[in-house]
Amino acid sequence: MTEVLDGGVKIVKEGAEPGVMVRAEQVHKSFGSLEVLRGIDLTVRTGEVSCVLGPSGSGKSTFLRCVNHLEKINAGRIWVDGELIGYRERGGKLHELRSREVAAQRRDIGMVFQRFNLFPHMTVLANVMEAPLRVRGESKAEVRERSATLLARVGLADKSGGYPGQLSGGQQQRVAIARALAMRPKLMLFDEPTSALDPELVGEVLDVMKDLAREGMTMIVVTHEIGFAREVGDSLVFMDGGVVVESGVPREVIANPRHERTKAFLAKVL
Ligand code: ADP
Ligand code: MG
Repeated sequence: MTEVLDGGVKIVKEGAEPGVMVRAEQVHKSFGSLEVLRGIDLTVRTGEVSCVLGPSGSGKSTFLRCVNHLEKINAGRIWVDGELIGYRERGGKLHELRSREVAAQRRDIGMVFQRFNLFPHMTVLANVMEAPLRVRGESKAEVRERSATLLARVGLADKSGGYPGQLSGGQQQRVAIARALAMRPKLMLFDEPTSALDPELVGEVLDVMKDLAREGMTMIVVTHEIGFAREVGDSLVFMDGGVVVESGVPREVIANPRHERTKAFLAKVL
């Protein structure tokens, strides 16, 4: 429990741990009889980049979706910035949050997918402005200014009046990142953000993510880009079969994997 100051008023924030942005404890998730997550433990410290690696089907996307409660977990707990995701704990029992409360939690968590899912009929700038205009009580002028700044930050100031269909995949993915940032998230989740891109477009997206990391954004990045994990990641988590097989400092895990499954996987992607 920590005390935080909000406008001079002292609030005691239940569950908050200084320096920890994400804590997952024994997260289980099944689809019918298929047990996809079998007890995931993971901690991401504030300002750190955690890279998640693992074979297809190991539960990486499912885990990310659990972090923002797009999937309901069957057991365990996930806290983001000290807030229990999706539930309220009372008298030792978990009670599901209302959809409005879940939406409020989700607003603070940005997500970028493999496919960019931009609105094709809206300009690039309108795509970035859409969520904050819909959700937050901010003026259009404020949102427009921040969105234009974000587009400049991802190197697309000159594209703001264009449409997604006129952009390359790498440019569209950079717009998707700007769009997620427009909500001023405290955590960003990336699910294989470069795996749908032509190889020559991967670098420009990774560069934007590197800048974001340098500026102190807390990120969980599912990726097979080992170079990125080694250079930018503060931790590397290797998942297989719905569990974390091993984790550690990226350079060390990559150079010296302890488990056979990690070794076998790295041998394939390196
Ligand atoms: P990864 O991202 O590591 O490739 P996923 O989390 O996408 O793995 O999937 C893990 C397993 O869960 C796969 O076997 C997949 O088919 C299954 N799965 C994922 N989402 C669903 C769903 N909504 N319904 C049923 N099975 C699912
Ligand atoms: Mg996936």
